[in-house]
Amino acid sequence: MTKNIAVIRGDGIGPEIIEQAIKVLQKIGSIYGHTFIFTDVDMGGCAIDKWGDPLPDFMLEKCIQSDSVLLGAVGGNKWNDVPGYMRPEKGLLRLRSGMGVYSNNRPARIWPQLADNSPLRKSIVDKGIDFIIVRELIGGIYFGDHRTEDIDGIATATDVLMYNEEEIRRIGRIGFETARKRNKRLCSVEKSNVLDSSRLWKKVMHELASEYPDVELSDMLVDNCAMQIVKNPAQFDVIVTENMFGDILSDEASMITGSIGMIPSSSLGAGTLGLYEPIHGSAPDIAGLDIANPIGTILSAAMMLRFSFDMDKEADAIEKAVSNFLDKGYRTADIMSQGMVEVGCSAAGKLISEELK
Ligand code: NAD
Repeated sequence: MTKNIAVIRGDGIGPEIIEQAIKVLQKIGSIYGHTFIFTDVDMGGCAIDKWGDPLPDFMLEKCIQSDSVLLGAVGGNKWNDVPGYMRPEKGLLRLRSGMGVYSNNRPARIWPQLADNSPLRKSIVDKGIDFIIVRELIGGIYFGDHRTEDIDGIATATDVLMYNEEEIRRIGRIGFETARKRNKRLCSVEKSNVLDSSRLWKKVMHELASEYPDVELSDMLVDNCAMQIVKNPAQFDVIVTENMFGDILSDEASMITGSIGMIPSSSLGAGTLGLYEPIHGSAPDIAGLDIANPIGTILSAAMMLRFSFDMDKEADAIEKAVSNFLDKGYRTADIMSQGMVEVGCSAAGKLISEELK
């Protein structure tokens, strides 16, 4: 199979971590007989410097025309004082809306080798943490009307939380499809005891369930879900939820796994075109030192293979290679512990590629 991948190296540690993911993808290509064609796209601070724009239209077009997009990270102190509309992060927002990605998928997975990094008790971690939060990305209260006004001399602010059934249905389908590729359990999270938008959410999820008889659907109130994520995270396979609930729960979920450098993410829309990136930023404090952890980016590349290219066994192989790397005691500085072997970013990419056989 031949796939065109738009590659956004970005700023800070972006170029270093992307290079490692490319190493891994090239090795996968050679083992499984795929050709990955990488096209560089400028976005973020480097694009401001080169083109005077954090994401020029012709760069966005390269992403839209690709089979999928792999992103390192953007931003840094150098561009802190540029006007708001020119900030590196504006490129990211324009990229997401230009690609029409309305679903953000973030796995929360604890690697047994790194269990001590979790802030949770060992007895909870030992049961395993391995779930995905599917979050609606471009609707809900963040995108409703916002206003602050004076009513009878009292400052009053309003933010509107609105969803229509179509918006719920399309994210619901991503939830069901994701569960279908995993352990076939989907938990729909809402606040239907209080909110009309949540009651509609729950109704649509149950209508969809009849199209996915192989997936077991359950419902959970968001406040209970926040508790269950720390009390018994092993119960979850896939969580699907609206924008603001997902924003909060996905940060909670990433914390319990222990290290920001290990976590990948994907954003998807109606088709298979996706945006894949680690959850961390450009880490300017360690840029250029060859000490960044590239695993979040490498695992983002694995998600790309699984969710955009339908290459499950290739994705499994990458995850296994990361696991072998950790089993052998290799650690980057951020996850280093006593008795382990510290390696740099580039060496980590090389060692993980070598685990692919
Ligand atoms: P950050 O995630 O870049 O860094 C937070 C801390 O985690 C730092 O100490 C950093 O060294 C460490 N860290 C992050 N990734 C790591 C890795 N792979 N390996 C080892 N250590 C790692 O967050 P920040 O410092 O708040 O933001 C820095 C810049 O990144 C800002 O300009 C911000 O706007 C931008 N940012 C970009 C994205 C994105 O591109 N999607 C996301 C978040 C922040």
